[in-house]
Amino acid sequence: MKYIFDFDDVLFNNTAQFKVHMFSILAEAGVPEKSARAHYLEVREKEFSLRNFIQTLFTKYNLRYSVDVVYQQIMEQTPNFLNTELVELIKKIGKENCYLVTNGDQEFNNDKVKYSGTSDLFKKIYIVPGTKKEVIRKICEENKTEEILFLEDKQKFIDDLEIEKHPNLRTILYTGQNLEPYFQ
Ligand SMILES: [Mg+2]
Repeated sequence: MKYIFDFDDVLFNNTAQFKVHMFSILAEAGVPEKSARAHYLEVREKEFSLRNFIQTLFTKYNLRYSVDVVYQQIMEQTPNFLNTELVELIKKIGKENCYLVTNGDQEFNNDKVKYSGTSDLFKKIYIVPGTKKEVIRKICEENKTEEILFLEDKQKFIDDLEIEKHPNLRTILYTGQNLEPYFQ
């Protein structure tokens, strides 16, 4: 059995913890939370780059620290926002059986994985713009004889998979349910 994990809101508590922390660090640096949230709503639909986000706010407000310092302050807390139960399950099933397929800006997502200490949990890490379809097709083809489980919190990334083409692929819409039964 192989496993494909999404990062944000599956392995990493992005909405419930990371974003709250991000806005709080930005507020300490001098950006009122309301303004930061309003700007976030404008840019989040595209591939979100935290560095560009801070940079833009930096030009509007007199930030107390440099862009690099604020970026660092936000990123260094990422190990505290992991879904620890899931991380333990991944360690149990082993790196050889796990893939990470996440969507979005390269630098930011690379850093999130690196800073959070999860780089070594996976056989391969894919950060893709747009759809996850191609990468998941590739993983399914490389592991034809095995069952593959894809864990994802966003329905849209499940819907566009052409699942009928991959008889060995099973998807789970992750909403925080207990996953232990799937990791036996
Ligand atoms: Mg997600």
